[in-house]
Amino acid sequence: MTLVHNFSAGPSAIPKIVIEQIRCDFPNWNGTGMSVIEASHRGKEFKEIAQETESNLRLLLGVPKNYQVLFVQGGASLQFSMIPLNLSASTSVVDYVITGSWGKKAAKEGSKFSKVNIASDSIHSNYTSIQNEEDWRKSANADYLHMTSNETIGGVEYNFIPRAKNIPIVTDMSSSILSRPVDISKYGLIYAGAQKNIGPAGLTIVIIREDLIGKARSETPTLLNYKTYSDSNSMYNTPPVFSWYVAGLVFKYLIDIGGLSKIESLNIEKASLLYEYIDQSEFYSNPVKEDYRSRMNIPFLLKDKSKEEEFIKQSHRAGLVNLKGHRSVGGMRASIYNALEIAAVNDLISFMRDFENNNG
Ligand SMILES: *Cc1c(COP(=O)(O)O)cnc(C)c1O
Repeated sequence: MTLVHNFSAGPSAIPKIVIEQIRCDFPNWNGTGMSVIEASHRGKEFKEIAQETESNLRLLLGVPKNYQVLFVQGGASLQFSMIPLNLSASTSVVDYVITGSWGKKAAKEGSKFSKVNIASDSIHSNYTSIQNEEDWRKSANADYLHMTSNETIGGVEYNFIPRAKNIPIVTDMSSSILSRPVDISKYGLIYAGAQKNIGPAGLTIVIIREDLIGKARSETPTLLNYKTYSDSNSMYNTPPVFSWYVAGLVFKYLIDIGGLSKIESLNIEKASLLYEYIDQSEFYSNPVKEDYRSRMNIPFLLKDKSKEEEFIKQSHRAGLVNLKGHRSVGGMRASIYNALEIAAVNDLISFMRDFENNNG
């Protein structure tokens, strides 16, 4: 069996060295004589791994002491409801900035729980840009401002942190967490589904400032209350043990290769190669304004739309898989998360060049 370059938007590539380690550890994990998915989450071995995973994530991201790291289930999508339930009252106003499909979904869900004010919506640019912050229509006293650090479908990423006076900024970092260093202290809450840059699906990481915990509405279900996770080291009920363990391996790997500054420079290199190739070509295009182009998800269109299907078919045959764009926008999308090696991007560019020569 030959391996492929996996450009999937999620679940997505995991570093090959981590996959090898899982395989090696799997039947007899940590000397327990059983696999990690059979071990008790309350046992000594798992608890140690769980704590080490958290402390390594704290180290990587420089999480300040007054922030908690919670390990939750339900995907990033469940956070769309947990956030308003925990951080706002039903009568209060919450601000949302929409820069693509995920932000739109978050705002729609938020409106079931609070009065949503859309402070900005990039729909006028067809979600290829981010409006200047000076032009946002922020509320005078919102309970929080919600944003999406990287819009996975449109490939639009912030290159700034908004200035929200005295209100917590809540950000969906599902597809860009761990891709670059980040100043956690500028945010009230950061959340990310694991299946892009962290590990297997089933785990969601929530990094929350301590003073925002314990304010949930009285009707909030126990498992949707951040305090439940904070009080129990995220083990009120059985956590997603396999995802947690693999996330731990990924964090160790990132530390081993030099941390987030190192990974950021690799990510800049990969993204620049691909954007530069697309921009010099008459055959391919990327619609996103340069300042806001994502380093993780790079959508591109062919000049001749009728060749798309052929592009997908041939690229797949060449071992470049999952390049089909999201069904809502069409075209192609290369997701080049941390685990994608530079060789994958170089191979993709070679393929694109050949395809252009044969079809342009
Ligand atoms: C993938 C993704 C989601 C949805 O994640 P689930 O874990 O499937 O709920 C939400 N927001 C962003 C930015 C994403 O990339």
